[in-house]
Amino acid sequence: MKIIAVGRNYIDHAKELNNPVPEIPVIFMKPDTAVLKDNKDFYFPEFSNDIHYECELVIRICNEGKHISQKFAHKYYDAIGLGIDFTARDIQAKHKEKGLPWELAKSFDNSAVISPLIPKTEFEDLGNLGFSLKKNGDIVQQGNSKDMIFDIDSLLVFISKYITLRKGDLIYTGTPAGVGPVAIGDRLVGYIGDKEMFVTQIK
Ligand code: ZN
Repeated sequence: MKIIAVGRNYIDHAKELNNPVPEIPVIFMKPDTAVLKDNKDFYFPEFSNDIHYECELVIRICNEGKHISQKFAHKYYDAIGLGIDFTARDIQAKHKEKGLPWELAKSFDNSAVISPLIPKTEFEDLGNLGFSLKKNGDIVQQGNSKDMIFDIDSLLVFISKYITLRKGDLIYTGTPAGVGPVAIGDRLVGYIGDKEMFVTQIK
């Protein structure tokens, strides 16, 4: 499986990092070795001094798809979860400054927290899905799928023009405003609506 992630998919987050609002989705990938599931602890890596959480809705692909059309896009995903796209902001900043790809800032081991995936039929309206992240008990991020610049179906249409989607692939759909650093000892808890989806302890 592969993980495809979307950058700057919420206007408020693009603005907080002084990035322009994109006209086409910003896409990057994480390898399968980035997955951190089952509420496992995240060990702060030695190569960075500034790891940020980015809480994101995640969708699971259920059919192989290339050149997916808008009309049929909904048939290509069957489950929704919540995750964190951990980002080494210091490494990313250095690479952005030089105009270089930010792969190392995004694709390191355990940088993709993922909750259990819930069948999408259990959600009333995928276009109005609220989610939030608490750090040490305080809400630090709140988002809603209705505020995505590119909605889920549009993302699949765009991505599958370039990259074949396969069963089991995960799409991280971008983070709303409120990203920030983690420190050893922090506890992150993610929610879709009121439902607790994951807990990640920083060690
Ligand atoms: Zn992200």
